[in-house]
Amino acid sequence: MYQHLNELAQPIGLPVTRALCVGRNYLDHVQELNNEVPDDALLFMKPQPALCHMSEPIVIPDALGACHNELELTVLLKAPLCKASKDNVLAAIWGVGLGLDLTLRDVQSSLKAKGYPWERAKAFDFSCPLSCFIPVSQFSDLQDITFSLHINGDTRQQGNSKFMIRPMAELIAEMSHVFSLQAGDVILTGTPKGVGPLHAGDSITAALGQNLSVTTSVVV
Ligand code: ZN
Repeated sequence: MYQHLNELAQPIGLPVTRALCVGRNYLDHVQELNNEVPDDALLFMKPQPALCHMSEPIVIPDALGACHNELELTVLLKAPLCKASKDNVLAAIWGVGLGLDLTLRDVQSSLKAKGYPWERAKAFDFSCPLSCFIPVSQFSDLQDITFSLHINGDTRQQGNSKFMIRPMAELIAEMSHVFSLQAGDVILTGTPKGVGPLHAGDSITAALGQNLSVTTSVVV
């Protein structure tokens, strides 16, 4: 069973609820998929059965087309937020880690073409592998955090939170005006460019600056 873990792999005493996600929060990724920057944050959710440990083998669905990596800085909340200010948000953050927003890209493309919701492409079981979380006090600037994804030794994604269209506190405050956020919620803050298909047998390393690194593999 998934539990939120700290950097010593000890459980964090917060409930496992769901993941809140934002689409199109880095311009280079918006451009690689020929999308437009939305006026309001493009929000979606992954339910609790989507959450799993990134350190365990990543299970991608079989026979549903391409399953893409989207590595994202991920915030763990320790307190509820409703119609929050940016200062409220900063006081409610437990820490920051990494999340993979696994996306069935072919399924998503056909849903997008029909104007349908994205759950079939984004919210399937184990679609949200998460790393451990580093306490927020260990970051001097939330908007200057580097992270990267390496597949079979090749660098696939390199991001820095300074390039977010919506900075984390602003994004989470906006979310809290749409729906109430709960202690234990995780927020995936968008992917930089470099999304692409994963294959069974791939070896993946995800890194958050010098703070953490996770190596895992892909299975079907
Ligand atoms: Zn994403």
